[in-house]
Order: sequence, then C-alpha cells, then structure tokens
Amino acid sequence: MHEVSIAESILDLIERQLGRPRELSEVAIRLGPLSGVSADSLDFCFPTVAFHKGFGSPILTLERTLVTIRCDACGTTYHLPDPISPCPSCHSWHRTILGGDEFELLSATLSEENHV
Ligand SMILES: [Zn+2]
Repeated sequence: MHEVSIAESILDLIERQLGRPRELSEVAIRLGPLSGVSADSLDFCFPTVAFHKGFGSPILTLERTLVTIRCDACGTTYHLPDPISPCPSCHSWHRTILGGDEFELLSATLSEENHV
C-alpha cells in the first residue's frame, strides 16, 4: 500500500529530528485533496507503522485543506473538497487551481510518559 511508505517517510523525518525513535503522543499532518495521499488509508496504517518503528501509539491528526480555485471568467476564488465542480458564481469551468496539494508534517509531540 502506497500510504505505508508515506507513513514510514513521515516517521523517518521525525526520527532524524529526534535522533532516534521516541514515544510520541501525537503527530499532526496537513493534507490537501490533490496531494495524492489517501487520508483514510494513511489514518488506517499509521498506528501500525508507528508502533513497529518504536514510536508508541501516537494519535494521527490530519488537518485537511481544501482545493483553492480561481475562476478565470469572473475572478471568484473558491474552495472545494475536490476540484470536480465549476465556479459557484458563474458556473464556468475556466479556472486556475491555486492550492490543494499540501502534504506537510506540522508537529510531533513527545509522550509525557517518556521520562526516564
Ligand atoms: Zn466564475
């Protein structure tokens, strides 16, 4: 599954910052509808991957963004969960997609119980 390697790369990034795997309580990710990442699949596989890599059982918080589109006909900027709709003002399909492909690690929170 594609999302397993995505979960692994997120955790590798965290591991590089921490120096080694440590128990986390939360990992927050920003995810856009055009990122090519399935939020449901990632949510499903993340706990297993995190546990097996030594990060405990962090909660995965997904901040899901919308697709930002500017209508080329009337200039309206609109936001949709997917790009499969025309302009809400003039119903034109002539538009420019400005955003929605976000995929970034926002934060990783260490578990409080991790004190030695
Ligand atoms: Zn329009």
